[in-house]
Amino acid sequence: MTIVRPEIARLSAYHVPDATGLIKLDAMENPYGWPDDLRDAWLETLRHVSLNRYPDPQGRELQQALREGMAIPPEAAILLGNGSDELIQMLALTVTAPEPGHPTTVLSVDPGFVMYRMIGLFAGLDYVGVPLKSDDFGLDLDAILAAIDAHRPALTFIAYPNNPTGNLFGTAAIEAVIEAAPGLVIVDEAYAPFTDESFLPKLGRWSNLLVMRTVSKMGLAGLRLGYLAGPPEIVEQIDKTRLPYNINVLTQASATFALRHRAVLDEQTAAICRERERLFAALTALDGLTPYPSQANFILARTNPGQAGRVYDALRDHGILIKKLDGAHPLLADCLRITVGTPEENDALLAALGDIVNPG
Ligand code: PMP
Repeated sequence: MTIVRPEIARLSAYHVPDATGLIKLDAMENPYGWPDDLRDAWLETLRHVSLNRYPDPQGRELQQALREGMAIPPEAAILLGNGSDELIQMLALTVTAPEPGHPTTVLSVDPGFVMYRMIGLFAGLDYVGVPLKSDDFGLDLDAILAAIDAHRPALTFIAYPNNPTGNLFGTAAIEAVIEAAPGLVIVDEAYAPFTDESFLPKLGRWSNLLVMRTVSKMGLAGLRLGYLAGPPEIVEQIDKTRLPYNINVLTQASATFALRHRAVLDEQTAAICRERERLFAALTALDGLTPYPSQANFILARTNPGQAGRVYDALRDHGILIKKLDGAHPLLADCLRITVGTPEENDALLAALGDIVNPG
């Protein structure tokens, strides 16, 4: 069909496997629900939501709750997105090449979060992925600085911690990237609930630094809410690409409510961090699997050569869904990504893996 852009025709649609009836450890969700009294109080809040009205266009009350709850510096402006995916899209629609003679380019590291490349492609931008170091998935600063020099990217995305590797890159290296980049640098802190490190307090130190976050991983993935914080003069421009009323009334009311009851979510994320350490130790003890240290709510693990598909399929047969990354990038050969679940889910996973990777 000639009406379709060739780069779109070449794509296959984003595939989400059906998890019905399975223990779902594939998508970095928080596995916990809310206690009944909190659920009741939330439903009571929703009684007062006017479904017949458009939402507050800026989501001011929600912005204020985020500013207070997440300690966003007062000098930073905030922009809300329908998931942080939508914020990446708005960024891609806003920028042009910072220097003439270069295509408008998105730069990130590989393996990294695939939507930087995908959304760049949707928006007609070039993508440059700088390989991470093969031994520890660290940032190869020399390579990234050389790529910045060669490609002059409009947008540089650094996930901190990184998905799918789970590690935090060195602060000094990220700061060197911010200083060298001619365009905007977005530190994507989707996994902030699982680490103490953050670039939020550094906002304002560089005129091109933005910090992007989401409420998805802290336990509100169903609401689809991301936020971007940065210099007001930049945020104001990105805001122009936002579709009107992008954050619906139910999300605005529910997220504001949840942020006022943060303690429950904080307990859940703390439990996930404890389970992450237990899971890491138990995975290390298995012969056929090598886990990588993680500061996020998932663990990347490498199977023996050629075994990732077999382990993935066998786990599915045991009723457990994880993510197979083997084949997604050369550095991810034989790799699987396991989201940290509840203690019971993790026990089920470990029992199944015990049978699968070192049987007998
Ligand atoms: N950034 C990173 C690094 C992610 O891993 C994800 C989700 N997997 C997102 C952003 C998108 O999050 P959401 O659209 O749910 O806010």
